[in-house]
Amino acid sequence: MLRLEHLRVSVTTDCNVRCWYCFNEGQKKEKLDMSSVDDFRWFISKMLNRYDIGIVRFTGGEPLLNPQLTTFINIAKEHGAKSIGLTTNGDLLPRYCTELNQISPLQCTVSLHQINTKKDCDIEYLEKCVSNAVEMMGKVKINVVVTQTNIDLVRQIVGYCLRNNISMFLIELNQSNSDCSKFSANFINHKDIIQILNQDFGIELMLRDNVFYIYENETMSIKVSDSAILYRTPIVISPMFSVSAYGHLGQRNFSIVDAINNKDAKSLFDVMDCAINYSCSSCEPICNRTPVGISLGNF
Ligand code: SF4
Repeated sequence: MLRLEHLRVSVTTDCNVRCWYCFNEGQKKEKLDMSSVDDFRWFISKMLNRYDIGIVRFTGGEPLLNPQLTTFINIAKEHGAKSIGLTTNGDLLPRYCTELNQISPLQCTVSLHQINTKKDCDIEYLEKCVSNAVEMMGKVKINVVVTQTNIDLVRQIVGYCLRNNISMFLIELNQSNSDCSKFSANFINHKDIIQILNQDFGIELMLRDNVFYIYENETMSIKVSDSAILYRTPIVISPMFSVSAYGHLGQRNFSIVDAINNKDAKSLFDVMDCAINYSCSSCEPICNRTPVGISLGNF
């Protein structure tokens, strides 16, 4: 059985926040097609049957904006998903926490975008966001995009998370969707972030799997990645949007949505096998073949 650590499922591109660095998500309003629930059922049952999937992670945009989210999660669980993840900006958690708390186990990651979007954001505000999320969801992980502008706040919130055993993932700013001057003014290299954390907290982050720098103890971890992580995430599937895989399978585009619409398992598995076996990125191929990737978009 082929192993796939993460299957990321984007259930909407809509978002209630407009982060200036957003990776093309959270920018569009798309209408959910009800038939996608059946399509998703077919898709996820095929995937879970054929691949050893570590975690099915629901994301967006902001996934809590999709009224079908818990239906999708329950379908994934019915078909044997071992672990369910949810990545949210946290704003809508108060509305859905009772419902979400029934889903077990659920790995909830809260992206602390307020640090980059709220004008008068300070450490008290951030600590409150994090502690509220922990109170509602039990255990959460925190994601934060690190910039020159927020690095001092990031240092403080890392200290808070270390003291409270809350795991964090610090993400280097990615250029691809930022305007150039804003990117240059804000970019801070992941190696500098690591050095700052080493100095501040005396923790040593070790390179793992050539992707992450990680510090961990028995209860929590601090992870730092370079921005190319976005391209290395092997699979992003949205049941509502056309998804194209391209690469050494040939020059033609493969639409996973076509495969799903036609209930064409062979095409689906061809694309998936290719992406899993050569899970290189569109910007950094790790094999001699044409880079393989699956991109989300309205092609
Ligand atoms: S919260 Fe996430 S999806 Fe929404 S705009 Fe920000 S980065 Fe994009």
